[in-house]
Amino acid sequence: MATKKMKEQTRKVLKDVFGYDSFRPLQEEIVCTLLDSKDAFVLMPTGGGKSLCYQIPAIMREGTGIVVSPLISLMKDQVDALNACGVSAAFYNSSLKAAAAKDVLERFESGKLDMLYVAPERLLSKGFLQKLEHVRLSMFAIDEAHCVSQWGHDFRPEYVRLGELRGLFPDVPLLALTATADEHTREDITERLGLEKAKRFVASFDRPNIRYLVAEKRQPLTQILQFLEGWPSASGVIYCLSRKRVEDLAVNLQRHGIRAAAYHAGMPGRTREKVQEDFLRDRVKVIVATIAFGMGVDKPNVRFVIHHDLPKSIESYYQETGRAGRDGLESEALLLYGSGDVNLVRRLIENVENIDQRRVEVHKLNSMIGFSEALTCRRRVLLGYFGERLDEPCGNCDICLDPPSTYDATELAIQALDAVRQLKGEHGMGYVVDVLRGSRNARILEHKHDKLKCHGSGADINADEWTSILRQMVHHGYFIQDVSMRAAMRPTKKAERIGSGEPIILAKYQPGIRRQFKRLGTPKDEALFKKLVELRQRMADEEDIPPHVIFSDVTLTELSQHKPTDDAGMLKTSGISPHKLEIYGEEFLDVICSHAKSAAARKVGGKEDIPKLIAKGPGANEAQTYTLSLYREGMPVSEIAAQQGVGEVTILKHFVALVRAGQYIDVPAFIGEDFDTAMSELDDADPYASLSEIKRDMSVELDNETFRLIMAWREAIGVA
Ligand code: ADP
Ligand code: ZN
Repeated sequence: MATKKMKEQTRKVLKDVFGYDSFRPLQEEIVCTLLDSKDAFVLMPTGGGKSLCYQIPAIMREGTGIVVSPLISLMKDQVDALNACGVSAAFYNSSLKAAAAKDVLERFESGKLDMLYVAPERLLSKGFLQKLEHVRLSMFAIDEAHCVSQWGHDFRPEYVRLGELRGLFPDVPLLALTATADEHTREDITERLGLEKAKRFVASFDRPNIRYLVAEKRQPLTQILQFLEGWPSASGVIYCLSRKRVEDLAVNLQRHGIRAAAYHAGMPGRTREKVQEDFLRDRVKVIVATIAFGMGVDKPNVRFVIHHDLPKSIESYYQETGRAGRDGLESEALLLYGSGDVNLVRRLIENVENIDQRRVEVHKLNSMIGFSEALTCRRRVLLGYFGERLDEPCGNCDICLDPPSTYDATELAIQALDAVRQLKGEHGMGYVVDVLRGSRNARILEHKHDKLKCHGSGADINADEWTSILRQMVHHGYFIQDVSMRAAMRPTKKAERIGSGEPIILAKYQPGIRRQFKRLGTPKDEALFKKLVELRQRMADEEDIPPHVIFSDVTLTELSQHKPTDDAGMLKTSGISPHKLEIYGEEFLDVICSHAKSAAARKVGGKEDIPKLIAKGPGANEAQTYTLSLYREGMPVSEIAAQQGVGEVTILKHFVALVRAGQYIDVPAFIGEDFDTAMSELDDADPYASLSEIKRDMSVELDNETFRLIMAWREAIGVA
């Protein structure tokens, strides 16, 4: 029974050791179950906070907690993070040199460790099992427990023998944890680990901080670059189906100045490890990978996951997107959905020989298509697939944020069907569009298709829109694209219904990626946040640990919002425990305080600490340079204007050009009290709205030049 006192103690450990104020759902109940010496089986999505479920009882109970984990790199990360919190933890696996291994074992045997991470094959070796009998154990935790099941997607033979633990150590509580959402695998795990009597904890598999977005795949590189603009300097993963695509895309992104790296199973192990490590340490920002990437990466601040190609099932899609936003901050999952990919997967499935397996694959593909083409809340479709119901639409997917309007497209469908029929099912989608639009290109003239009745019948609709219509008609089963005939368009039987009275309802074509930004909570001070990130990076490099081990993005975000100036304020911040405050607090406090001072100095017109501006336009011309020199002498705008015999508006125009040329004008001070409001409203503005729409919707009234000046400033400091 979890007593009140027990609960108080767990909360104290949560705050004192980890610096967190409250438990996430189910964490406390799970911790108390273990404190009560009972077994538990925990199903919780990635990012749900599984680690604390065993770390806290292991710290609180007498003896050492044994944690079994399949991945060596993860063990090291977790141990680093625990050590940074002042917890006595170590790992024991094949990556340790003999001397280090001996040292770990000594500490373990003398009872000095709160937690020991062990690889399964080591744990079950005869020698180690013998040692275990002489050491006091507080618990066993089996992480990634689905590895024990052959049903699962990641079966590991070395996990099978973990089933012996329950019998060998009847008095030590055992906890198994997994993020697998598949019922079959769950049953298998319970049975294999002897956890039939264990208390089951099933958390919701919803990941509310992940925004699901699906866009029609058009020019993937351009779409991805456009998407990345919304996430400057954030970490993310892009999944592609083939190694070749991975390599091509990585190179293309690098050409556009993005710190991207490729990752796939065909690369040498050493190279892959290096890429993972660089990603973890924020040296590489974007990983372009085949599905081989992910399992071993426990990076809390992955802000986005992009699927360049269609995932093979909803399970994989859920798993892969789940790697975003473990820290609970808002994150995005973008799927580029193209009918070409669907055809490709279909063809692959046709080659599957076993009929049952083929059926399963077809079903999986169809569910994935269903998700991608859904005109209802994506999260509902996703969770529904795993048997979880969402009562309300989520409000955080592309469909909820921007419901597609539909329209009666019957007339257009008739036109499209006529064209496809007249072209006798011999031409691909692009050609059909050209004919509909009345193009007179060489191929059309050669085939004399300019003489067809349908030629030019759809000239009033642009090519992208026609493509969208034809694609939707393919998705809805009116046409097929014959892959053996270079994807020639053919009508299906269902096409006979077109024009029979039943309306054809299609989603309205919308160009671009539909995405909106809604920042949660108080907007942070981006400039300060950047400084804190830089400090963290420097300290992490010095200590040779991943940056998030020092402080998470959540912590840095809170620091840049609340800007604490003393220890008490620091301790109120999520993720700052007294131990971490002692080690890292002072340097972070220094940065926050000096940032606050220079901001204050800027407000009264001081010029020290001139921030670096990014040049976005050409250099300044003569008149502008003259304005700059007068400005630097401290002359007010009215006088600068008088001096040159021009209006003040002209001087503002000079300012805009100067800022765009990378010259420092103290725009915040110049604009005064409206500045902060304007900046935070611009942070939240819809990136697809036109500038005039954005300006119109702002609560502060700005004249055109002032508005342009703020926009130039935003570009120059790198927030736009
Ligand atoms: P999982 O193993 O389930 O994927 P983790 O244990 O890695 O999740 O936790 C994900 C992130 O959430 C980590 O950065 C962790 O520090 C943080 N976290 C976990 N529990 C809490 C909590 N109660 N309050 C704040 N942050 C938490
Ligand atoms: Zn939704």
